Amino acid sequence: MSNENDLRTRLVPAICTQCGGQVEVDPTQEAAVCKYCGTPFIVEKAIQNYSIQNAKIEHVDTVNINTKGTAESFFGFLGEQMSESREVRREERREQRALDRETQKMFMKIFGYMMIGMFVLAAIMFIVQVIRGDSGEELPAEQETYIEEPAETPGANAS
Ligand SMILES: [Zn+2]
Repeated sequence: MSNENDLRTRLVPAICTQCGGQVEVDPTQEAAVCKYCGTPFIVEKAIQNYSIQNAKIEHVDTVNINTKGTAESFFGFLGEQMSESREVRREERREQRALDRETQKMFMKIFGYMMIGMFVLAAIMFIVQVIRGDSGEELPAEQETYIEEPAETPGANAS
């Protein structure tokens, strides 16, 4: 094991707490920025990550620590990236579903407004028909004019 003075000046291997990429850090620094994902991380945690990963590998195979370590961190990184993209795709699907729901809701709203509009239109037509029916008996000749311009009642009275 290296002495304290040596440790102070040397970079030590660490694992990025964000992406799992293997980086070298200055243990005297509190934080560092990952060269893979650009995320700042706590140096102590990253070193801890590295030792945990290495301890695991050592437990599995003490002979091929380095090769296995590299492969494992590579596959770990790859796996993490893959699960990340899976997560992204899931997120996209979720958004798409939410969007579809929103579109459906909007369509239902428009449909509802159309129904209300048609109902109002029908009600207006019914009222117009009732009014026309009332005055129609008195002014059968002015019926057409009356429907198109219901505001011109004085004109209808004049003739
Ligand atoms: Zn990283």
